Amino acid sequence: MYYDENTVIFYNGEFVKATEAKVSLYSQTLHYGNGVFEGIRSYETSEGAKIFKAKEHYERLKFGAEVMNIDFDYSVAQLTELTYELLERNGLKDAYIRPLVVTGENMGVFSAEGSDLIIQCWQWGKLMGERLLRVKTSRFQRPNPNACFVEAKVTGHYINSILASNEVKRAGYDEALLLDMNGHVAECSGANIFMEKDGCLYTPPKGHIMAGITRATVLELCEELGFEVKEQHFTLADLKSADSAFFTGTAAEVIGLQSIDEYEFPMEWKSSKGNQLMKLYKQEVLGLRKKQTVL
Ligand code: PMP
Repeated sequence: MYYDENTVIFYNGEFVKATEAKVSLYSQTLHYGNGVFEGIRSYETSEGAKIFKAKEHYERLKFGAEVMNIDFDYSVAQLTELTYELLERNGLKDAYIRPLVVTGENMGVFSAEGSDLIIQCWQWGKLMGERLLRVKTSRFQRPNPNACFVEAKVTGHYINSILASNEVKRAGYDEALLLDMNGHVAECSGANIFMEKDGCLYTPPKGHIMAGITRATVLELCEELGFEVKEQHFTLADLKSADSAFFTGTAAEVIGLQSIDEYEFPMEWKSSKGNQLMKLYKQEVLGLRKKQTVL
């Protein structure tokens, strides 16, 4: 699914075949989850492949490496350039891009010296689909922000997402909603959440959540559209009295929720602010909006 014998990846300073690359069995990333990664998308636009918000994604990768004390010297410009070259070498335009910084060999629990940068990409297939999601609240909470850097995309943090997803998917739901340690609504296993109530949008503030790049984009779009939006904590009970809700994420883009646990969102998705934002977001990533303004 992710690669075949022709797939090229960037690994440790060069472009190599995915089938030929080898990672050390003694890498700290493999044993303890001390690695950082990104999830980026590129879209086929009228001007060719366009990586959406490459700068923001690579800045977040560098931030993660810094707080985790992982050696990582690439600049945002170098990373962006390498990624465009990788897409070209693989003949991809609509793609998912996965940079991963793997740490060196160290079986101790202090950061290893040295790191390898891996960039992989593959043809994009929509992760969440177009239909509305049936979501279940997970028994697992998002991690305590005093226990780790929740805003860094650290490989080990994703155990939390995997636990929550496993739980709800086994129960027949599409996605998991996680609360934070204080019982407030936090986010999905891999996306941020917004709810609409009485014409106003709400999304949890930064602090216990991944500061999503899609979330930031949607906040900008809200401002442009004149939508009132409040970054404030809310509870599950608040969510269960909302008119509508949606998730935002690089993979999910903007996707509506049908239900949370037993609660069905009453507003028709087509009439929701989320639906307008979903459409606008799709235009934004495809570079269609700038073109319209120029015309
Ligand atoms: N929350 C979590 C836990 C995530 O893993 C992601 C994906 N990076 C998001 C939210 C959405 O972030 P973004 O919009 O930057 O993809």
